[in-house]
Amino acid sequence: MTKLKVRIEKAQCVGNARCHAVAQQLFPLDDDGYVAIEGFTVDPGDEVLARRGARACPERIISVVEEED
Ligand code: SF4
Repeated sequence: MTKLKVRIEKAQCVGNARCHAVAQQLFPLDDDGYVAIEGFTVDPGDEVLARRGARACPERIISVVEEED
């Protein structure tokens, strides 16, 4: 089965919180305002939000990929 996954190159985050502004629950920030996670598996129903959050990152460090289990 394929699963949709979000991958974030966290080390390159500049902390402008654009992803978080689109979907707070999917893209949490740490105490310094940088994205707090390196990725996650997208739950059914969250696909549009996940893709929108990825597109919102001006640094282009968020990718959405389909992976086989
Ligand atoms: S939009 Fe990109 S650069 Fe900005 S906080 Fe999110 S991951 Fe970091």
